[in-house]
Formats: sequence, structure tokens, C-alpha cells
Amino acid sequence: GAVIGILGGGQLGRMLSIAASRLGFSTHIFEPGANPPAGQVAAQVTTASYDDAAALTAFAETVDVITYEFENIPTAALDLLEPLRPIRPGRRALKISQDRLVEKAFLSDLGLKTAPFAAVDDAVDLTEALAEIGAPAILKTRRFGYDGKGQARIMAPEDSAQALADMAGAPAILEGFVTFSHEVSVIAARGADGSVACFDPGENVHNDGILHSTTVPARLSPSQRSDAVLLAANILNALHYVGVMGVELFVTPAGLVVNEIAPRVHNSGHWTQTGCAVDQFEQHIRAVAGWPLGDGQRHADVVMENLIGADMDRLPDLARESDTAIHLYGKAEVKPGRKMGHVNRVIRPPR
Ligand code: ATP
Ligand code: MG
Ligand code: MG
Repeated sequence: GAVIGILGGGQLGRMLSIAASRLGFSTHIFEPGANPPAGQVAAQVTTASYDDAAALTAFAETVDVITYEFENIPTAALDLLEPLRPIRPGRRALKISQDRLVEKAFLSDLGLKTAPFAAVDDAVDLTEALAEIGAPAILKTRRFGYDGKGQARIMAPEDSAQALADMAGAPAILEGFVTFSHEVSVIAARGADGSVACFDPGENVHNDGILHSTTVPARLSPSQRSDAVLLAANILNALHYVGVMGVELFVTPAGLVVNEIAPRVHNSGHWTQTGCAVDQFEQHIRAVAGWPLGDGQRHADVVMENLIGADMDRLPDLARESDTAIHLYGKAEVKPGRKMGHVNRVIRPPR
């Protein structure tokens, strides 16, 4: 049978592996860290650094197609892999989503609304950017940020020096603060044949910069809902994308503002495991394997809640809830802020 290579062995890689094996594929995980969650379910695991050309080559030679569960794969590793096997989604989506400045420019060139933004490499840039954009604003590192890390709020110009110091010399982007009523995301898929299927938008709540819960249906008017899926389809088509993408949006009175895109399965799409016949993981595997996409129609109201760090203490109680599906990632050590699992609660209308 065909083998799907997955760069990254975290929980997303684990759930992709499970979906792949349900479709009769086996998976080979490439992951620098020891004992990755995906390693417990994949047929093969290579534990090696992205600098290890021999290991990367050997990995590529065992697989038919390469996909990934995180976007920060070093460019040199991708350059080495690309001539050996197809990489899906493709390089352009990775390049764009690896750098917030390139990403914002791409989105606004598509005609989509984003926060006002400017590149900031030093104190002079920051002063100019702040004069143009105004406070409040957020300074973010252009690369490697996740779960709200690498960000500093600037409520007034006096906060500038500290915010710049927080960037530790890394190239940054200043974003104007978007006043939104709530956050939603669209999990969208595009097949190798160019067809697009979007899951119903989910409403996201973050605590301390980390996703806490996703609720479907999201609070959106019918026109906001169609805006959300159309703009997501627009992004995927522009990239000739193959696979699943998460598109994060702010809901504002002036319309939907795109926050960021993730060229992979997304934490805010975990509800699809319980709410849809074909979930985001199967949809992604279908796309990268060149299969037709599933429909992904939502058949239930669901609240997905992440189990982070000490939330694991609630496991005995959660296991007693009758309409709650539990997904654990097999991580041995509980740490504060660490995503250990999630639950999907089916919400039934009162009878
Ligand atoms: P993720 O874990 O989703 O990848 P991240 O570290 O890449 O997160 P962002 O999504 O850019 O960070 O920001 C985290 C959160 O901070 C957003 O979900 C939103 O709540 C808030 N935020 C980010 N940028 C802005 C902005 N320009 N205006 C208002 N709020 C913002
Ligand atoms: Mg992000
Ligand atoms: Mg985000």
C-alpha cells in the first residue's frame, strides 16, 4: 500500500496517522524529538534532525507523498525533499505562512481585510509604524510564533521600548489592534482536482493566547457565514493548494478580518471528528493522496474543549459524561500550557 510521510510527530501528526491508516495507508513520521505522540500509531518513525540530509533522503525514499503537521520546517530540508517526492500542500503556502509579513501582504493583495501592518526591524521602524498605525497595537515576531508567543501589546507609545526588547532582535511586524466581537475559523480543504470543501466555521475562545474551545455553529449571520467560506476558498485557490488549511478570522462590524492562515490541519478543526462524517484529518489525507474530498457536512452541534496541562485532572469526570468523545495524545509528561488532549461534546437541542 501507499505510504504517507509526515513531517512532525505531535498530536496533529498522530491524528493524521490514524486517519491515514483507516484509509489503508501507512505513515512514516519524521520528527527530531524523542517519543513523539505520532510515533505510537505510525508504522515507521525516523528520529533525526532536519539538518540530517542522509536521514531526510532515506525518509523520502520510503514514502509516496510528503505532508506536514507544522509550518516551520527549515527551508533547506524542504529544498532537499522537494525533488524526491511531492510535498502537499506545496511550498508556496509554507513560505507564506512561515512569515507573518509575507502572509499579511499576500492576504491583502488578494483583496482581503487584515489588520493594518508594517515591518519593524528596529526602533526607528517602530516609531514610524506606530505613528502610522496608532496604539493600541501588537508587535509580533515575523517567524516561529504560536500560542500567542513572541507577541507584545503596545497600549501607548511608552510601551514601545519594552515591546521591541521582547522581540530579542528578531524581525517583527506591527499590527494595529482589531476590535472584534469574536473569533471564528474556517477549516477548508482543496483536492488535487481543484475542488474545495469548507467545514462550517467554528467560534474560538482563547485563554492566555492558547485556544481553549471551539463551538459550532459559530455566531455568524448567513452572509458572514458565506463570506467566511468564500474568502477561505479564495485563499486556497490562489495557492493551488492541496490539503486542509485553517483560516483564522476576526468578526467585526466592518466585516471579516483575516488574522492568520495555517497550512495544515488545525486545532480549531478538531470538532469535525464528532460533527462530520468525514473529519479534517481524513479530508487532508484524501487530498494529499489524490482522492476525491469528502463532503464534510456538519450533522451535530459540538463544543471542542482543549485539555491543557492540569485539565487532565478532570479526566475521571469527563469520562463519566455520556455525550463527550475523549481524544488523548499519549504524552507522558503533563506540563503547564501543554496540549494533552481534547474533548468533543455533542450539544443536543432540548426535547
Ligand atoms: P496560534 O496558536 O493560533 O498560531 P499565534 O501565536 O500565531 O496563535 P495569533 O493568532 O496571531 O498568534 O494571535 C493570538 C491571538 O491574539 C489571536 O487569536 C487574537 O485573539 C489576538 N490577536 C492577534 N492579533 C491581533 C490583532 N491584530 N488585533 C486584535 N487581536 C489580535
Ligand atoms: Mg499562528
Ligand atoms: Mg492564531
